[in-house]
Amino acid sequence: MERKLSVVVSVYNEEAVLEQFYREAVSVLDGISWDYELLFVNDGSVDDSLRILDRLAEADPHVKVVSFSRNFGHEAAMIAGLDHARADAVLCMDADLQHPPACIPQIVEKLEEGYQVVTMVRTRNRSAGWLKNVTSAAFYGLINAVSDVHFEPNASDFFAVGEKAAAVLRKNYREKIRFLRGYVQSLGFRRADIEYEAGVRAAGKSKYSIGRLFRFSINAIVCFSNLPLKLGIYAGMGAAALGAVVLIYTLLTRKGAPSGYATIVVLICFMFAILFVLVGIIGEYISILFTEMKDRPIYIVEDTRNIDVTGDPGCAAKEP
Ligand code: UDP
Ligand code: MG
Repeated sequence: MERKLSVVVSVYNEEAVLEQFYREAVSVLDGISWDYELLFVNDGSVDDSLRILDRLAEADPHVKVVSFSRNFGHEAAMIAGLDHARADAVLCMDADLQHPPACIPQIVEKLEEGYQVVTMVRTRNRSAGWLKNVTSAAFYGLINAVSDVHFEPNASDFFAVGEKAAAVLRKNYREKIRFLRGYVQSLGFRRADIEYEAGVRAAGKSKYSIGRLFRFSINAIVCFSNLPLKLGIYAGMGAAALGAVVLIYTLLTRKGAPSGYATIVVLICFMFAILFVLVGIIGEYISILFTEMKDRPIYIVEDTRNIDVTGDPGCAAKEP
């Protein structure tokens, strides 16, 4: 039986590029030996994206659309894509043509060879400025230092998973705060890497500001590491050692006692700084626990096109 590929595309205000993306994707997908569906997830776009998707879905039964009630973020869109895909493998990519559709045949080849996870590794990102590149390198350095899983620094949200891996992601990785590309890399299974060069955005502008990326990085670290929670112990030991040094110094010099103003002020500031940082770190973890506890849906589907089993509007994804 012919196998089927589901291409999940997250769309947030991409009216400028959607049609071009569709044309390029279809011209590649028509050439592969698999059947396919093009599953667009409209992440609460406020421009003309949904109308364009409607038109595409009407003209082409390969096009499926899941539309959110508001913006839930790129990761939620990919999860919705995984949930609604009906296929033997799921490929996630961006709508802005930074993930070249021309790579799809190579990905399909790897899937045919039996790889469950195919990650696309960026060799160069032509659209990112130096600030994004430096912060990205710093982020991966940090997360690799504090977590047990090794993360490929240039992995992107361009990846494909086979049916087994997709099922695990669908069922067992439903955290509210999450780092999807990290999960993809930590699943195990047979994994292949393919290199590609990220092009410049075909049109429209990037939705990831530095602020949003910072939030995303903190979440990723908190998702994958408990080490920051243990920093308190090290800070405590460090403070104790420092106290001992100051004590010995004071005892030895004696006359330093009345004139130690600077020492006291510096120590107090230093200690409080550590304390506040640690309280802040604990706050991060508590806020994540709180978000998980509330158990709100990862996304809310308002509408779908060309999808027979509709998720209940107003609900999270149905159980697979
Ligand atoms: N995106 C989304 N929801 C968001 C932000 C972005 O679905 O809240 C989509 C966007 O439409 C694009 C992809 O995620 O297809 C990547 O976004 P973008 O190109 O802005 O990020 P960058 O490539 O600059 O990191
Ligand atoms: Mg982009």
